[in-house]
Amino acid sequence: MERTERPSAPDAAAGRRGRALLSVVVPCCDEDAVILETHRRLADVLEQAPDVDFEVVYVDDGSGDRTLDLLRGLQRDDPRVRVLALARNFGQELAIAAGLQHARGDAVVVIDADLQDPPEVIVEMLGRWREGVEVAYGVRISRDGESVFKRWTAYAFYALLARMSDVSIPRNVGYFRLMDRVVVDAVLAMPERDRFFRGLVAWTGFRQGAVPFRRLARPAGRAKWPLKDLLGVAVDSLLSFSFAPLRLATWFGVLAAGLALSGVGYAVAARIVTGAWVGGRAALFIAVLFFGGAQLVAAGVIGEYLARIYGEVKRRPLYLVRERLGFPAAEGRDRPAGGEDRSVPPE
Ligand code: UDP
Ligand code: MG
Repeated sequence: MERTERPSAPDAAAGRRGRALLSVVVPCCDEDAVILETHRRLADVLEQAPDVDFEVVYVDDGSGDRTLDLLRGLQRDDPRVRVLALARNFGQELAIAAGLQHARGDAVVVIDADLQDPPEVIVEMLGRWREGVEVAYGVRISRDGESVFKRWTAYAFYALLARMSDVSIPRNVGYFRLMDRVVVDAVLAMPERDRFFRGLVAWTGFRQGAVPFRRLARPAGRAKWPLKDLLGVAVDSLLSFSFAPLRLATWFGVLAAGLALSGVGYAVAARIVTGAWVGGRAALFIAVLFFGGAQLVAAGVIGEYLARIYGEVKRRPLYLVRERLGFPAAEGRDRPAGGEDRSVPPE
């Protein structure tokens, strides 16, 4: 997993002991109701944190409201603010990927823009990081202001993921976390398109530590994840991190073939013993339906994986940036998240 050294990529251990640069990546989509408050809280917390310089990388994910204007204003007043405006809405996963790629810190925090993840927790995460934890992830011990339906679906999702996935992905953990530079580089070096960030981070296997926190209700604005997208994430994460669906098809096929064989055995035996044919259109019809169904299920699962292969093969960039504010000129080039572009020389 070699990768171009980034300009400020420092020795992680050195960063842990001495003064460290912390990057905070904040994906924002239509957050003009809270974004100023968010920045105030973040800056307050980070200014208090000992031995830390910080930068905040706001990624505007195609907001349709005044978010980008407000971010521009923040950037003008505060040199620690960097703003990345994506060309359209690419979704939270890719907004985070864009932010990670532009973050320069020894450690990087990913946090929601809507203050549901309390910035104060970052201090605790920093403490864990200094102790040697490479991923300090926030674990939600409560979910204020979320509907019973959302809690229930979240619970079902984590339970299913835990059963089916090949890597163990911690429960009740969202995007809110602190990652060491080595983890960020490892995640960025993964070229896949269907990005399930939480799974990718867990997959790296770096030392992880949990920091419990209360997930608060949104103070303003509204949640942007429609059910359709949540389902999409659920399907993505299951298919990217588990071969169980493929196996399911295999087992289903084995079962169907076994049943059919025993049916044949029965028919032959009946013919020999009683001289009668097992007949009836109903039997035939059920058999045809059954095999048709089994094949469709198998084909459907294979199709899902094929779709993913197709996505990978296309090698589209993960996101496109329209505008960068507050980044040094040398970094003004887009590198694909796969890190396969090594043409940017280290400074
Ligand atoms: N977000 C984003 N792009 C999107 C949807 C959401 O960047 O397409 C951001 C949003 O601005 C917020 C975070 O992702 O900072 C979490 O979104 P939201 O609060 O809607 O989700 P939830 O709290 O329900 O997980
Ligand atoms: Mg939220």
